[in-house]
Amino acid sequence: MTKQKNTKIHIIGAGISGLITALVLEENGYSPTIIEASNTVGGRVKTDIINGYQLDHGFQVLLTSYPAAQKYLDYTTLELQKFLPGAVIYKDGKASKLGDPLRDISFLISTIFSDKVTISDKLKINELNSSLKNKSLEAIFSEKEQSTLAYLKAYGFSKKAIDNFFIPFFTGIFLETELATSSRMFEFVYKMFGEGYAALPKNGIGEIPKQLTNKLTTTKFRFNSAVKSIHDTTIQLENGEIIDSNFIIIATDPSQIINFSSTKKNKWKNCQTLYFETTRRQIQQPLIGLVANESSLINNIFYTTALETQNISKKEVLSVTVVKKHNLHEKLLVKEVIKELEELCQIKDVKFLKLYDIQKALPEKESLTYIPTEKEIKINDHTILAGDYLSNGSLNAAMLSGEFAAKTAIKYIDSK
Ligand SMILES: Cc1cc2nc3c(=O)[nH]c(=O)nc-3n(C[C@H](O)[C@H](O)[C@H](O)COP(=O)(O)OP(=O)(O)OC[C@H]3O[C@@H](n4cnc5c(N)ncnc54)[C@H](O)[C@@H]3O)c2cc1C
Repeated sequence: MTKQKNTKIHIIGAGISGLITALVLEENGYSPTIIEASNTVGGRVKTDIINGYQLDHGFQVLLTSYPAAQKYLDYTTLELQKFLPGAVIYKDGKASKLGDPLRDISFLISTIFSDKVTISDKLKINELNSSLKNKSLEAIFSEKEQSTLAYLKAYGFSKKAIDNFFIPFFTGIFLETELATSSRMFEFVYKMFGEGYAALPKNGIGEIPKQLTNKLTTTKFRFNSAVKSIHDTTIQLENGEIIDSNFIIIATDPSQIINFSSTKKNKWKNCQTLYFETTRRQIQQPLIGLVANESSLINNIFYTTALETQNISKKEVLSVTVVKKHNLHEKLLVKEVIKELEELCQIKDVKFLKLYDIQKALPEKESLTYIPTEKEIKINDHTILAGDYLSNGSLNAAMLSGEFAAKTAIKYIDSK
């Protein structure tokens, strides 16, 4: 126990990976300190309450079948609100519903008669579902990689299904419009959707890091403390303060903190989520809306008030996500999105609330893994890395990387 007491461990970043690192360290008797640049926990996973509106920083969901989320989160206390397993597809101004009738019978009629995909596609969707149910995550992440688009074509999905469903749906998940993301990620996400639900805590996505923080009892936090650099075991903050440490875990993109060669610089994908208030919902059920027009700026929409929320706003709230690259500044972007909502989705009378312009939303990586290797996270025997950018952009990956970093840190400390 003396070793645990006497070892000063610092975690840089209070995002999901940093919080899980702290949790696993605490479970093993350590009391780390988390140094966080912003004024709160969560990193990319935050919820604002603005004039009674509950607004997540970007549209994101928890997939209930994520193994790491099942291990570290208490779903009951999160009061998870489930999305229906389907989507409303907007094409040329017309809306149609597509879903999984095996999981929600209300989709039966609309899916059978949907002209957005062919009969053969409907069979292939089920075939893929069952084959991925029987495929382990290990097998998925050791598969040969190709782009998701190439994978879907090779699987035999029609152009119709790819254009009307897969491209808008997975653009919203991968945050890139070409479906260039590795087929491993496609299989992983598809499997997770097939084995659970997309859900949001009643208090918003920010409830996830809050729950993790509440589990920490001996971890200390230092907020508003951006780390400028690390030299050996010395941490220098932006304000000039020097902190002595014994072991450091960098739970964020380290390129600003330690000197990397240019080949090691991480690339990031960005997106924008705009929130609007409106008097009525055009989609009554908790279903995502996908805009399948190739030229549209809007990729997906969701009425956040279609799910039960803790903060009950007087009006309905619509979130709109833009993934496509453009040069519009805020005012013009809002104008264009309002125009598209009316023309493509027949949604009128919306009032703009807020824009979240997220520059480092998801890591852009050619090759994706489930968990990073020790070699990938090791800087030296007293500094290691954590964060989703090491393996794949997901809450599951952020949690697993935090767990792995904590276990690796303990191994190194024990060996000294
Ligand atoms: C718009 C959007 C949609 C998403 N959709 C989904 C989804 O639907 N499902 C899903 O599973 N995942 C989704 N994700 C991904 C998920 O949010 C991330 O994988 C996860 O939050 C990453 O956590 P992290 O701890 O690795 O990094 P981060 O959350 O980025 O945490 C890093 C922390 O380090 C801090 N920090 C940075 N630099 C310093 C410094 N110099 N000094 C001190 N502190 C510093 C930051 O302030 C931050 O708090 C989405 C992300 C976004 C942005």
